[in-house]
Amino acid sequence: MTVAAPQPKVAVIALGGTIAMTRSSLDTGVSPSLTADDLLASVPGLAELDLGIAARTFRTLPGASLGFDDLYELAALIESLAADGVAGVVVTQGTDTLEETAFFLDITVAAEIPVVITGAMRNPTLAGADGPANVLAAIAVAASVAARKLGCVVVMSDEIHAARYVRKVHSTSTAAFATPNAGPIGLVAENRPRLLLRPPARLVLPMASGSSPTVPVVPASLGDDFAVLRPRRDDIDGLVVAAFGVGHVPASAVDLLADYAAGVPVVLATRTGAGVVHRASYGFAGSESDLQDRGLINAGILDAYKARVLLIRLLSIGADRAEIARTFDGLG
Ligand code: ASP
Repeated sequence: MTVAAPQPKVAVIALGGTIAMTRSSLDTGVSPSLTADDLLASVPGLAELDLGIAARTFRTLPGASLGFDDLYELAALIESLAADGVAGVVVTQGTDTLEETAFFLDITVAAEIPVVITGAMRNPTLAGADGPANVLAAIAVAASVAARKLGCVVVMSDEIHAARYVRKVHSTSTAAFATPNAGPIGLVAENRPRLLLRPPARLVLPMASGSSPTVPVVPASLGDDFAVLRPRRDDIDGLVVAAFGVGHVPASAVDLLADYAAGVPVVLATRTGAGVVHRASYGFAGSESDLQDRGLINAGILDAYKARVLLIRLLSIGADRAEIARTFDGLG
């Protein structure tokens, strides 16, 4: 007699977002209301995956209103589901903050099971709503043995993206998620995930709790000397500068940034959306080498928003400036 292998079990955790938004009356906009069970009920072909699926409604929020407290609680939930033998987890949420929450989970959840985040660009009331297809593809990836030990991945439009590098690059397109520096690491076709590349070794930081450090992202812009920072002096714990090009700011901003860097970690990222911050190419006042000489920390290949998530996580575990610089350096 042969004994059937137990079905792998995938947990689907709903946080809200456009994927879960409906209209309460004809003259209002959509807002989050659907549960995880509602989302699953809308997915054609789910039964064909032959999986056990546990649905959990964790939050019913727009992506913009998620915070670090929500994410720590979510990370703990994922760890406990992994400890209970769940094969993989799908998180559904608003796409507005998805690139940041994905990276948070990537550097916070130590479990080796696939952690897959998805959402939708078109809400369920619209023609061509993309939520059901994204959920189906995300579940297929979460159940896949090949997706273990990858950290967190984002699955949108049948593409699999590494959390560390994925960006939301369009405000409305269903192809809004892209990895500008490398492209997707895989794709899903006929419910079968194909991993084409593997992201570099994971960084997983210890869990933390308590209030999150205050770390603004401030962009460089034409002729602006970062005056917005002057009154904030005492109420920030760190800063990310989204600089021009390979890491440049106006010369008039240098003293202020150097002053900040003497007190709190200041990370230098690029506002361009792709590429890296240079280390030693330019030598003018406000260049990347000038700013590093004055204590700013090079974000490497991390974009400003992911650099902020990493800086917040490092500050939350009490990392000092040297450890923060080393960690950014280690990610390239
Ligand atoms: N436009 C967003 C979304 O795609 C709204 C949100 O992030 O909640 O889900």
